[in-house]
Amino acid sequence: MSKHEQEWFDQPDPTGRTDSGEVGLRFTCTQCGSCCTGPTGYVLFNDKEAGSMAKALGISKQKFLDEYSHDTILGRSLNENLTDFGYDCIFLTRDAKTGKAGCSIYETRPEQCRTWPFWDSNLTSKRAWASASRKCPGMDTGTLYPPKHIRITRDRVEI
Ligand code: SF4
Repeated sequence: MSKHEQEWFDQPDPTGRTDSGEVGLRFTCTQCGSCCTGPTGYVLFNDKEAGSMAKALGISKQKFLDEYSHDTILGRSLNENLTDFGYDCIFLTRDAKTGKAGCSIYETRPEQCRTWPFWDSNLTSKRAWASASRKCPGMDTGTLYPPKHIRITRDRVEI
């Protein structure tokens, strides 16, 4: 789609859930952790991100690649641990008291994680957004992001 064409989230109240007339989409993470677990999936990263994550862990990039990731048809992906919740990202943490999810490499997490939920696959239509929001309680709540921010974030990764 041309960047100059109107998209569904350029319309007032794009999700149809309020009468506020606000333009943009709301999102604030509730730290439920559901996006970091569930069915086995992909947390892809590039070489630069591998270096950053390795540095944060205090290990070499090669050791990071060997111990924390594996090859997939889409590229290198972070490993997962099978837990009672599903296939947890290897860096997913859960606070024993509050149950809140966290990320042990939060400051150096890959772009795929940073740009959720403004992924192209979630923004193709109102229906796609609504479908994604069923597993992410942070969508359609909290901070309102304007369309320009949404587009810039979407363009940072291809997902
Ligand atoms: S599913 Fe949504 S609310 Fe839950 S941890 Fe992920 S981003 Fe946050």
